[in-house]
Order: sequence, then structure tokens, then C-alpha cells
Amino acid sequence: MQTQRLRIAIQKKGRLAKECQELLKRCGVKINYTGERLVVHAENMPLDLLLVRDDDIPGLIMDGVVDLGVIGENELEEVRLERIKLGEPSQYQLLRRLDFGGCRLSIALDKDQSYNGPQDLANQRIATTYPNILKAYMDKQGVSFSTCMLNGSVEVAPRAGLADAICDLVSTGATLEANGLKEAEVIFRSKAVLIQREGSFSEEKTALIERLLTRMQGVIQAKE
Ligand code: ATP
Ligand code: ZN
Repeated sequence: MQTQRLRIAIQKKGRLAKECQELLKRCGVKINYTGERLVVHAENMPLDLLLVRDDDIPGLIMDGVVDLGVIGENELEEVRLERIKLGEPSQYQLLRRLDFGGCRLSIALDKDQSYNGPQDLANQRIATTYPNILKAYMDKQGVSFSTCMLNGSVEVAPRAGLADAICDLVSTGATLEANGLKEAEVIFRSKAVLIQREGSFSEEKTALIERLLTRMQGVIQAKE
């Protein structure tokens, strides 16, 4: 269902939410976020925001349900690989990398365990929320392993006896350390990105996207 208004999906709450809102504000988009609404309207341009869980954003773009989205590359890549596996649409266009949401997806294991390279992970069970990115990495290394899918509390899996190692997002490493783990291998580096659906856009939407991108360029440069 196409609408006249440009639709942008952003995370409702979480690590990307505040910075997305701030970026849009600096780009001149006036929005009142009060209330618990899924859709909020810009007051000064034909633009609506969809406030959703970050996990839903890649699919909304790949299914062409929204025009633009802001998402961490880790989540985007995981969904892309999953959709390729399932034979579902997995296309999108990268408009620009943003200057927030930086983190890395790393394999970590017990701090007292020796580690000399990916071959040491052979036949280990690795707990993760990112099974597809992990598999792509391990396949490339030619190392076989088994997985344990967890959507939360991944870092406690080794201590709880659920897995030998984990593959999880790291920014400072404090969470790993607090759980007696050490970072063994960085397998994916991520930042937030602005993406666009495939397909055609009205002249009005194209012009608005251009305008937003130009302003974004200015906002991001001014911070550097
Ligand atoms: P939601 O409720 O929307 O599903 P979530 O719990 O999946 O939220 P957040 O923890 O808010 O997600 O993280 C969103 C994104 O922020 C991550 O996918 C990642 O791209 C980025 N990020 C940056 N630093 C970190 C970090 N230290 N740990 C986890 N994610 C981080
Ligand atoms: Zn999420």
C-alpha cells in the first residue's frame, strides 16, 4: 500500500532510538513523540515515522512496506541472510552509514580457555542471537560447530552450561568481563545505517529524500 507521505521506520526504544530522533530533529523534521503511538506524523513535511522494534525494520524495507529505515548493520545482515535462506525478498538500498550505534559482533569464550584461532572452536556449541552471520563466518573458516539460539542473556550461556562459547554484540567489553569471558574473534563490525526500499518513488518522495540526505550530510559533517 503506497502512501503520499514518506514512511520511515525507526526503533521505538532502545540503543538507536534517541539518536534517530535527534538526527531527524537536526534535519528539520518536527515531530511530537508523546503517547504510545505506532505512527507519528511530522508537522512540517509529508513524512510519517513508524516506531517499531529494530528486528522488524529490515523486513519492513525488504517487503516494501516502508520507504526508509534506520537499522544496525548487524540486524540488517542477519535478516538478509535469513530471508535468502527462506527464499523471501531480501533487497534494499544503502543510502548512508550513520555516526552512531557502533558495535561489533564477536565470539567470546571462558577467559581461562586457550585460544589460537577459529580452529579451536571446532565442534563447540556457540550461543547466539545471530545464527546466520555466525554460520557464514564459520563456513568461511571451514570450521564445524553447533549453535544454541538465544534472544537474550547470551552472555550467561557458558556459565549456565548451555554452550561452550558465545557470539554476541560488544561495545566496551564490560559485559564480557563481568561474565568471565574474553573476546576471541571479531566477526562483524556494525554501525547504524539509513536504508531504502527497492522500487519506484513519486517525484515528491524522491525530492524529500534528497532534501533529507543533504541535511543529514550537513548535520553529520558538523559533528565531525
Ligand atoms: P528492540 O526492543 O527494538 O528489539 P533490542 O534489544 O533488540 O531492541 P538494542 O539493545 O536497543 O536492541 O540495540 C539495538 C542496536 O544497537 C543493536 O542491534 C546494535 O546495532 C546497536 N548497538 C550498539 N551498541 C550495542 C551494544 N553494546 N550492545 C548491543 N547493541 C548495540
Ligand atoms: Zn531487537
